[in-house]
Amino acid sequence: MTEGFGPPSTIRLGDVEITRIQEYAGPSTGTPGILFPDAEPSYWSDNADWLDPAFYDAASGTLRTVLNSWLIRSQGRLILLDTGAGNGKERPYAPVYAHFDNPYLDQLAAVGVAAEDIDVVINTHLHVDHVGWNTRIEGRSWVPTFPRATYLMPAADVSFWNPLENPRAPGDGNQNVFEDSVRPVLDAGLVRQWRDTLRLDESLVLEAQPGHTPGSSVLRVESGGTGALFVGDILHSPVQVAAPDVNSCWCEDPPRARSARRRVLGEAAERRLLVFPGHFGGHSACTVRAQGDGFAVDGWADLGLI
Ligand SMILES: [Zn+2]
Repeated sequence: MTEGFGPPSTIRLGDVEITRIQEYAGPSTGTPGILFPDAEPSYWSDNADWLDPAFYDAASGTLRTVLNSWLIRSQGRLILLDTGAGNGKERPYAPVYAHFDNPYLDQLAAVGVAAEDIDVVINTHLHVDHVGWNTRIEGRSWVPTFPRATYLMPAADVSFWNPLENPRAPGDGNQNVFEDSVRPVLDAGLVRQWRDTLRLDESLVLEAQPGHTPGSSVLRVESGGTGALFVGDILHSPVQVAAPDVNSCWCEDPPRARSARRRVLGEAAERRLLVFPGHFGGHSACTVRAQGDGFAVDGWADLGLI
């Protein structure tokens, strides 16, 4: 695994085409103990034979991560799921995501897609690393990056992360995010807020799975007898496949986050669905099977390694 991002990589599920657009690949911030405080510290070294190098650097004992966006072509529309950290953002409480200068839009252009071509943007939730490219800087203003798109946002997260509605939020690391990456698209009239479930077309359905954040959601894909679940950060690391009760330090409601994780993994195992988490390196998506009190990775998507 090299530093920086990998090139776009595409697979097809029935009539749905899925392309990985990667904004970042490299060292993760924080130690395993800080990011996954409930996990067995030895998990990563015990599983280094398959976690290194995509998820773990055994030599230094540090975690590796990626920021994945997913470009989905379905029923003639172009859909972008999660928009990374974005360029040029002020992130004093999450410096790892500050002042990026990544050729994200060039990655889209490399697969023939201009910002104006995107029909729908989906933010699985409104954390800092899932909404960044919602906007870009123009002069002194943040403007929608995808001017023709409808931005689908979970209503529960829009309320939760709006500092005017909920003074408790934003929590550590999510400061400024609402103002520079959510408010401008709201003001432009491009946001459709949704609750519970929202069908996009014959193949795609959004479904609320709260816990990681109040509005955390899953995109279901069903086409041609195959299926997938895009789970955002309900599943952040392979350790949570083996031990679904392990939360990340960013899970807002720990008991509900555990329940949501067990639900999506249980269904994925039973129905042999591909699982697309937000931050899995390597092949980036996997199938799972039940094992003991948790699950195990059963296979990887045919997405190129980086
Ligand atoms: Zn994330």
